[in-house]
Amino acid sequence: MAPADSTGQDLLHTTSSQSDADVTRPRSESSLTSLSPQTAFQFQPSAEVWYNDGTIILVAGDTGFRVYAGILSEQSPVFSELLSEIPGHTPQNATFDGSPLLWLPDHPKEMQYLLKAIHCTRFVVDPELDFNVLCGILHLSTLYRIPHLRLRAILALQHYFPPTLDEWLNAKTSRQKLSASDIFHLANVARTTDASALLVSVLTWCAGQPLDHILEGVTAGPRTEGPHVTHFDQINLLAVLRARPQLHRLAYSTTLQDVFISISCVKTRCLLMKRILGSKLIEGRETDGFLNPLWSYRPLSTLHPQVLCEMCRRELTQSVETGSRCVWEKLPGIFGLECWNGLETPSV
Ligand SMILES: [Zn+2]
Repeated sequence: MAPADSTGQDLLHTTSSQSDADVTRPRSESSLTSLSPQTAFQFQPSAEVWYNDGTIILVAGDTGFRVYAGILSEQSPVFSELLSEIPGHTPQNATFDGSPLLWLPDHPKEMQYLLKAIHCTRFVVDPELDFNVLCGILHLSTLYRIPHLRLRAILALQHYFPPTLDEWLNAKTSRQKLSASDIFHLANVARTTDASALLVSVLTWCAGQPLDHILEGVTAGPRTEGPHVTHFDQINLLAVLRARPQLHRLAYSTTLQDVFISISCVKTRCLLMKRILGSKLIEGRETDGFLNPLWSYRPLSTLHPQVLCEMCRRELTQSVETGSRCVWEKLPGIFGLECWNGLETPSV
């Protein structure tokens, strides 16, 4: 077979619509029941996953994948169950080149990458894969109950959205390569696949986005075939909207407490300058005045000595750092999830 295509340039952002609905669908009710001789050959053989001596042809969308039934059954109890039903359910003419056909309701690109991960040892699920390919593998490996692929997908996606604050800050550069649409999409995938090891970290990023984007969705990039606007699913939307005022309050009370609350230094100049700093921090913010408790507030650590005394500058820097760590520990509860300790080991 041709080498793995890890670009995934046209992988759809369909999770919030088609694919999400599939999560709760019992796999035994797949397209076996909708098979009809009239549609039996309406697919294009995949250029990526088509083994000439394969024993089963899976059809997703308009694409057929000729693979090995024994390997599918060994990897996935869901495939095992589906394949066991074929002799009793498949019409005689629902075959192609001697192989039975099995229709699946999944997106063809997501299925392509799942089957590559199952069949091809050179196809490694790691952060080198395209972000949306990883989302697709997380989605389908969960649906088809393939825990080792689900775990690899989660660990790879934690390259962008890790569970510790230090890693999260270090991953900022990696996240800058992603679009907001990509990340909103991951939030929806993580929610529907119950990938809580990712969800808190992803939702934390989402809660810091402009309110209009949160409410109205974000425009998908030109590489996306699917919907032009990616929205949060309803549960994520409510989680983010509920979290946002809590995060805002923590910015005041915790990360920036040395600006807004502390009176450890009573020098008139310092008190006045902190008041001015506080008003500048609020200026130009979102329409709802949102302050993010996890921003670095780096300019505060480089204030000139004439602005604040040495003690105030030192305390301000420490306030931001220790406050951020305190906020990080509170995040799971803010999003209605378990503590970080329960999230750091991806459940499979
Ligand atoms: Zn001072």
